[in-house]
Amino acid sequence: MSPTTRREPIPTSRRPGDAWREPGLNPRESEPQRSATGVRPPDVSDTLVRRLRDLRVSVTDRCNFRCTYCMPKEVFGRDYRFLPRKHLLTFEEITRLARIFIDHNVRKIRITGGEPLLRRDVERLIEMIAGLDGLRDLTLTTNGALLARKARALRDAGLQRITVSLDSLDDAVFGSLNDVDYPVEQVLDGIEAARAAGFSPIKINMVVKRGANEDSVLDMARYFHGTDIILRFIEYMDVGNTNGWRLDDVVPAAEILEMVGAEMPLEPVDPNYSGEVARRYRYKDGGGEVGVIASVTEPFCGDCTRARLSADGILYTCLFAAAGHDFRALLRQGRCDEEISEFFRATWTARKDRYSEIRTSETVLWPKIEMFSVGG
Ligand code: SAM
Repeated sequence: MSPTTRREPIPTSRRPGDAWREPGLNPRESEPQRSATGVRPPDVSDTLVRRLRDLRVSVTDRCNFRCTYCMPKEVFGRDYRFLPRKHLLTFEEITRLARIFIDHNVRKIRITGGEPLLRRDVERLIEMIAGLDGLRDLTLTTNGALLARKARALRDAGLQRITVSLDSLDDAVFGSLNDVDYPVEQVLDGIEAARAAGFSPIKINMVVKRGANEDSVLDMARYFHGTDIILRFIEYMDVGNTNGWRLDDVVPAAEILEMVGAEMPLEPVDPNYSGEVARRYRYKDGGGEVGVIASVTEPFCGDCTRARLSADGILYTCLFAAAGHDFRALLRQGRCDEEISEFFRATWTARKDRYSEIRTSETVLWPKIEMFSVGG
């Protein structure tokens, strides 16, 4: 889409300079009020004294995009064998695990994938999870392709927030990154539908890759400036082993902030809560907020409170892990909640991951789980 044909940006509904807070994730609220089962198990710390607060749940390993930095077409083509349906956790299984993890003080759940809106009736799962006691924040990350159709149903089901991935406003650039020639306009339609359904603020994830879309950074910043949409620039990461990552392809967050700030001055904003992934900035002219996720140049393993559950029920305690912990086996062996809880305690207590802090040109070659199977 050329800048001349672009639609008007979405107007802001936020007062200039307002700082938005993640619902229920006030850093002063260190403990959830109560457990879903009424009996709160002890809060478990890992070997680096980090607790679990944030669970990402992948509901499918399939995606309708072939983003070159995530799921390159050459590797994940027609012959690639995705998980068979019977291997996927059912909605009931996911909800049961979610309840157990909420008992362990998870406060935020993000539904992701693959592309989560490809999972049939995903809004039914949202409704089931939204009904769990003790959860403070339920959100979903999508590429936006099916969002125009699904936004209302997701909202009605109880989804609180949404993040849409969009890497450029230029069709040629976006098409070369999503590698299926998906047009920008349709993602913007999805964002607009989400806004109309009542999601606010909406976040936009833009992965910035050197030589691919760094020229789109300013264009994206200008487009969302003055709206209640929060654009977050993500450093290109060495997730998985198929995207051919090189350090030279990373555009450091500092460079992105300098580029944006030179035209639209920025100032830092306090984190919404400890362990927040994005560093927040606001435009000094009151034009809203942007964020950077600098996992490569400024790793934040020290306060990582996240775990990821793959679509087939494997729990990964790091985005860069090589192996995970099989919760589906426990579910399907008929284990009781306390046994599953105990397995979690053992898994989390042993956790020592800090990949981004020890990343070198050699670690890049370590076997790692692909991002589309554990979610973003
Ligand atoms: N399909 C959904 C989407 O596109 O948002 C959810 C899954 S996707 C794996 C989640 C997020 O991870 C997206 O924002 C995507 O851009 C980001 N991502 C994927 N590969 C990445 C990489 N190599 N470096 C940084 N971010 C990446």
